[in-house]
Amino acid sequence: RCFNSYTQGRLQELEQLQSQLRLTNQELTRLVRANKDTLSHLAHELKTPLTSIIGYSDLFLRQHREQPEFKDTYSNIESIERVLRNGRLLLRLINDTLEISRYDAGAMKLHPTLTNVPELINSVIEMIEPLARAKELSLVVDCDRAPEQVTTDPLRLQQILTNLLSNAIRYTEFGSIHLQSWTVSQQQWAISIIDSGIGISLDAQAQIFNAYFREITVPQVQSSDGTGLGLAIVSRLVQLMDGEIKVDSQLGKGSTFTVILPLEAIVQG
Ligand code: ADP
Repeated sequence: RCFNSYTQGRLQELEQLQSQLRLTNQELTRLVRANKDTLSHLAHELKTPLTSIIGYSDLFLRQHREQPEFKDTYSNIESIERVLRNGRLLLRLINDTLEISRYDAGAMKLHPTLTNVPELINSVIEMIEPLARAKELSLVVDCDRAPEQVTTDPLRLQQILTNLLSNAIRYTEFGSIHLQSWTVSQQQWAISIIDSGIGISLDAQAQIFNAYFREITVPQVQSSDGTGLGLAIVSRLVQLMDGEIKVDSQLGKGSTFTVILPLEAIVQG
């Protein structure tokens, strides 16, 4: 009984937090657009309470999942899961918006270093594999023609690949995701991520690199948690690396994202 009232109290608190979270993605996006000067301030102000909401509800859920005997005492568990999900989404939106503003302010710097390409690709694949496995999608990697070493910012390259691969997994229901890498010329190398997913309409292909764009007329996009900022960040990073990103896609058949990069990054002064 004691536990029951404790649970109810926490649930009420979480529900209040959830209603505070009704500063929805769209509203935040609108705020961010309307007032660029206060963007950083707003983002930092939001980050702290959000991090605590996420940490708190995550802990709460984990504690209760481990005690199945209390399962019936919280029929509102779904509302906590929603708080956690929306909290994570908002935090991602804030972090991604900060990334974009750092780039737009010229404050995003690369740290190029000699990087082993197959090793880097393998570490990204290892990280992303559980996502593919959860959807029963196979990940196929072909690095045979990839350069052994390049000069690049390894963390930023990892970020690019993780973003493209997680999109490929998110927007694919059946089949496989292929990653191919090869040397293009004496100056350039390339990586392609090929999925057998929902594809992107021609109209949307022209807009996917714009910040906050999502093809929400597509049910799979609408129902997935996304910020519309992943590809905007990826394209800015590729630009910063003096590279190029291309998309080739057919609705219902799948998409191929290709990133072409210099073998030797120019070290910034
Ligand atoms: P998010 O995925 O968070 O919505 P992104 O900037 O990564 O944001 O992608 C923008 C939009 O481009 C997505 O909302 C989706 O409509 C489309 N998109 C991106 N990658 C793919 C893909 N591999 N297959 C189909 N659509 C994609």
